[in-house]
Formats: sequence, structure tokens, C-alpha cells
Amino acid sequence: MIGFGIKSTVIKSQIIAEQCPNCNKSNTVQMNIFQRYVYCLFLVPLFPFEKIGYSQCSFCKQLLKPREMPRSFAIQYANLKAQSKTPLWSFAGTGAIILFAIIVNIVDLQKPQQFTKMILSPRVNDIYEIKQKNGTYTLFKVDNIAHDTLSFLAYKYQSDKEDGLSEIEDKNFNAGRYMYLKSLLLDMNKNGEIVDINRKY
Ligand SMILES: [Zn+2]
Repeated sequence: MIGFGIKSTVIKSQIIAEQCPNCNKSNTVQMNIFQRYVYCLFLVPLFPFEKIGYSQCSFCKQLLKPREMPRSFAIQYANLKAQSKTPLWSFAGTGAIILFAIIVNIVDLQKPQQFTKMILSPRVNDIYEIKQKNGTYTLFKVDNIAHDTLSFLAYKYQSDKEDGLSEIEDKNFNAGRYMYLKSLLLDMNKNGEIVDINRKY
């Protein structure tokens, strides 16, 4: 199932030592506390948001919501609700999202270090995504390596978005050849001008 919704699950049940106000039997009234939670894709619990509950007599089946309970029931209901813990699993989806965000962040933080390694040991056909001074992005492909200088073929197209250049065809690297010293590329990397380096292994 796709989308969002609300579900509830029993987290505490207890038979109370009170008479049922309807049938006057003893030890037949059970209090039930439910945790309501929001779920998302594939019924993964996202986060809990409230506890609800009711009492029910196992003999006459009378069901009472908190506001319908006699005072002695309401006190026991409040106690039971206070004792019942929100299950940790009800945060599972939120936990997973936070974890994912942390991992993405760590990967992003490691990018400049990776790029430094790739600049220092370049390979022909490495494709650099460069953020240009005017704020647009374009691609440079390594076509020759001579000592400390890399020769790049420039891509025909530019984009005003990062990742805006998805169709990378060889024939479009026809916008001129540029030479860059590794030291200049390392400076560009420090300045965040190298957005990505793609290497086919
Ligand atoms: Zn009853």
C-alpha cells in the first residue's frame, strides 16, 4: 500500500477490579490502551502521535470511551495510560529517514576528499561536473594526461541546475579543448567548483 495513514495498536490491557456499571459483574471490565501512529509507504510506522483507549466488559460487551467512564474507571484509565510506553518501533520510519539523511551527509562530506584522489591520479574519460563562475554547470571530459596537466574536452551544453546534464553523449564534447594543471583543479575542488567526478570502472 502506498501513501500515508493512521493505525492503532494495543500497547496495554488490564482487567480492573471494579464492577461493570451495566451488568454489575466483577472482574469483567478490561481497560485497553492503544497507540495511534502515522504510517507511510508499505505500512512502515513513521511516528506515534497519541494514545487512546476504552474499557469493555467481557460479559455484557458494554464499551465505554474515557469521557463516558464513571470516575473510578477514569482514574484507572489515566493511570494505565501513563504507565503504557510508546513503543520504539513506532518511530521506525522517522529513524530510517534520519539515518538515511546522516549517511547522505557523510557521503557528501567525503566527496571533496575523493575528488582530490581522482585529480591526483586521473584517468582518461573521467567526466568532471564543474560549477562555472556564472553559476551554470557544465561537463569536462579528460582526453589526455601529461604529467601535471590534464587536457579536457568541453561539453556543448550547460545547465542552471546541478545534475541538469543527464544525457552525456561523446559527440557533444565538442566545445573546445582546455588544459588544466592538477594544482588548479585541486584549488577548484577546495572552492567547491568541482561538483562531481564520474569515472567508469
Ligand atoms: Zn458488563
